[in-house]
Parts: sequence; C-alpha cells; structure tokens
Amino acid sequence: MFNLSSSQELVQVNSGGVRHCEHCDQEASYSTMLEYTQRSFYMVVRWVTGRFYYYLCSNCLGTMATAPETIDPKEAKAAVPFFHRNGWMLGVAAALVFVIGATIAHQQNRAGNETYLAAPQVGDIYQLDMAKVQDPPEARVMHMLMRIQEVRPEGIVFQLATHYYDQNEGVDDDIRSGKASGSTYYGGDPVIIPREELRRLYDEGTISDIDR
Ligand SMILES: [Zn+2]
Repeated sequence: MFNLSSSQELVQVNSGGVRHCEHCDQEASYSTMLEYTQRSFYMVVRWVTGRFYYYLCSNCLGTMATAPETIDPKEAKAAVPFFHRNGWMLGVAAALVFVIGATIAHQQNRAGNETYLAAPQVGDIYQLDMAKVQDPPEARVMHMLMRIQEVRPEGIVFQLATHYYDQNEGVDDDIRSGKASGSTYYGGDPVIIPREELRRLYDEGTISDIDR
C-alpha cells in the first residue's frame, strides 16, 4: 500500500509591521504567518501544498487575510523548512545512490570476470546457461555451475554441476550458501574448453558470471 500522509504546519514569514487591528481596535505589531500542508510519501519524499498567508495580531491574536502577492517570495520560501520544501530530493538522492551503487557494483563485477577469464585458476566457479550449449537442450533455460578442476595449456578442465535451475537465483543461492564449493555438487565426466571458446561463451552471454 502507498503510505501518503499530510500535516498542517504554521510558520512565521516575517514581521507584518504595525497595523490597526480591527479585532482589538489597537495599533499592534503583526506577524505574517503562513499555513501550509506538508505532504509526504513514506515520510521520505516530501512536498508542500495549500499555502495560505495571513496577518496575526500580537495583541489579541486576531487574524487578517493578506494577499499572497504582497509577500516577498524569498521570505516566504525561507520560512518553510528546507526538507519540507525539498524533501523529494531525499527520495531522488536515495534512488540515485542506489542506481550509481548498482552500476559500480556491476562494472566491478565485469572487471573481476575479465581478470578471472584472463588467468583461470583451479576452483573458479562459472555460471552458465547450459541450454545455449546443449543441442538439443534438456530444458529451455538451464542455469548451472561448473568449476575449474585443472588448467591445461590446451584448455580449461571443468567439472559440471549435477543439476540446473530455471532461475538464476538457484545458482546464486548455491554459491552464497557454500553448497557450490562442495565436491558432491559436481559429477560426471569433466569437459575441456579451449580458452578462446571460453572467451566466446562469456562474450555472447552464455557464461553470465565468474566467482573466485
Ligand atoms: Zn488585535
């Protein structure tokens, strides 16, 4: 559900000068007041609506309507706390930080993959979609892992996982939980893949990630 909330706020804009008050019939000093509605979305994204200005008598607290155009816009703006006016910036900033963080993480990951691909080591774990290699494939999507058993001049020897997933999360979980590091995770005959073939599989996206 959306979490929208609003609250009424009252701030002093400036001293409204000395005026004759029709309520208490005195020459009294006034304050220019601004009433506004503070709206927020999940208490993070905030904005202001419904600005209403009036004069407040310091003697009797009587009020007198005032035309908004007589208020100095700068003073009116300064009266409202920054995050009431510009709270939406927080939301935008949070979103930006997230996107930038994700982009940097993605680039670092790609850079890491390049390093691993250039100098393979025993134990490196490759994520791939076996369905793109098998002909005909057992399933439409086959996310699975293979682990380097040996690095030979003519190619890289991989052990293949005994099972695959239709979702990428499956292999991610196996890596995170440490399952993919166990010896029983892999089985069958090892396969040998020449380096240039490995490179091609990565470039075309059949290999999606490498973990070390
Ligand atoms: Zn008064």
